[in-house]
Amino acid sequence: MKKISLDTLKQKDAIVVATGNVGKVKEIKAILGPVLPEAEFYALGEIALDNYVEPEETGDTFAENALIKAKAATEALGLRAIADDSGLCVNALDGAPGIFSARWAGAHGDDQANNKKLLDELKKRGATALDERTAHFISSVAMVFPDGSVLAAEGRCRGSIASQEQGENGFGYDPIFLADALGGETTTAQISAEEKNKISHRSKALHALADKLKEHLQKENG
Ligand code: IMP
Repeated sequence: MKKISLDTLKQKDAIVVATGNVGKVKEIKAILGPVLPEAEFYALGEIALDNYVEPEETGDTFAENALIKAKAATEALGLRAIADDSGLCVNALDGAPGIFSARWAGAHGDDQANNKKLLDELKKRGATALDERTAHFISSVAMVFPDGSVLAAEGRCRGSIASQEQGENGFGYDPIFLADALGGETTTAQISAEEKNKISHRSKALHALADKLKEHLQKENG
């Protein structure tokens, strides 16, 4: 894939999405595109950058980490940037895995090991009834402008942790997450991506960001 130069982007109404995940760029474009009809959205990986080093996610919260990622991209590129940070919080585990969701069992992105660890931890605590296994996904999104202004929003998807994996779709903790919005018996790995986008923490956060962006633009345009 030929990468696009920063000079070319600066001549466009470009917004950088500080993620390596192209799926996220599509979702962000689908939700924020109608608010910014002229804008073009690019993942960091699509841009020809010689020296860009992704920042360390040193925040204590999803919101701090989303801001760190968006700010780093804006400061390095001089363009508006959007970043998100998300994860699963389980009440019986005092909010774990939380900001460590991706690498809870050790290796980054080992979904199977993470799911197994979560089921084992709940078992250890004797949390067998569904009402002892309540949890929620959180997504924090931040949009940073070259003048330093920041818009931020959060979305949640509530549910509980199943006793075993169900379903083949999605990623991460989806096979063991029974979403309340699906009636509490279906995991987010048993629905299509389109259905998940209607109830997901990320889509709620992005819709909330879209509302803030509309207000921001109205103020800017008097
Ligand atoms: P990220 O910040 O979107 O990369 O998400 C961090 C981690 O949280 C992922 O690696 C997953 O383990 C978990 N996670 C976040 N969103 C979801 C989701 O929608 N389904 C399942 N797992 C998720």
